[in-house]
Amino acid sequence: MKLNNKIALITGGSRGLGRNSAFRLAENGTDVIITYHQQAEAADAVVKEVENQFKRRAAALQLDVGEVGSFEHFFSQLSNVLKDNWNTDKFDFLINNAGIGARMTIDQMTEAVFDNLFNIHFKGVYFLTQKAIPIMKDNGCVVNISSGLTRFSMPSQSAYASMKGAIEVFTKYIAKELAPRGIRANLVAPGAIETDFTKPAFDANPHVKEMIAAQTALGRIGVPDDIGGVIAFLCSEEARWVNGQRLEVSGGIFL
Ligand code: NAP
Repeated sequence: MKLNNKIALITGGSRGLGRNSAFRLAENGTDVIITYHQQAEAADAVVKEVENQFKRRAAALQLDVGEVGSFEHFFSQLSNVLKDNWNTDKFDFLINNAGIGARMTIDQMTEAVFDNLFNIHFKGVYFLTQKAIPIMKDNGCVVNISSGLTRFSMPSQSAYASMKGAIEVFTKYIAKELAPRGIRANLVAPGAIETDFTKPAFDANPHVKEMIAAQTALGRIGVPDDIGGVIAFLCSEEARWVNGQRLEVSGGIFL
């Protein structure tokens, strides 16, 4: 893929899939602004790696995507970073990736856990996107991150997967609403990927990992490098005619 000199904003870029996306986008010639929630050191390490290994410019900003009330402050910081580091007031690609898990069956679910999932995975994504749109360049794109769990069901994921389902509907709507500006919106739905997100479940139940690998056509659990390149592809010129799509990236689980 060609160098493009674009700027991507990646939420939750300090670890896991967001971190890998930052590297794969940088590899394609894109500068990156990543956000982190609590792990500032991990975010700084990503910024340094983007600068040193991929020779692209990078910056990190703190963001709690579940706190819509904090977005005004976040966007004012983002404006300063865009001005100071890039001498611009706009960016090109929005990757709505930040997220947490909560494995609870419906009988265990509490309103507090449900609301937290809702705020991070749906309300936060919705209003972050709303506030980002005016400072996105025409012909840019949005990539939202869903999950294979919207196509098939597994125990203890009803609330989490429902929020991801909402994001899938949202993606189709913004793909249409933003199309007059040439802004595309697509969705990546990863299968189970080895990150800090899945580590507690895999550590507690090693058989789950084996079961998922056995149900995956390609016979293993995913790794972040299986995902980041697909996100980078969706932001590339080669994907200019891909819009409003759900792309499952799971090695073929439960086919
Ligand atoms: P991860 O390794 O746990 O990383 C989560 C990232 O999100 C970190 O950068 C974290 O920041 C950030 N974050 C967490 N809570 C946040 C909040 N309230 N506000 C802003 N940022 C927050 O997770 P991952 O596996 O990369 O998951 C990334 C996305 O993929 C999530 O949306 C997840 O639902 C989805 N997904 C994951 C899998 C999988 O198997 N891993 C499968 C399907 C979908 P800090 O580093 O500062 O904590």
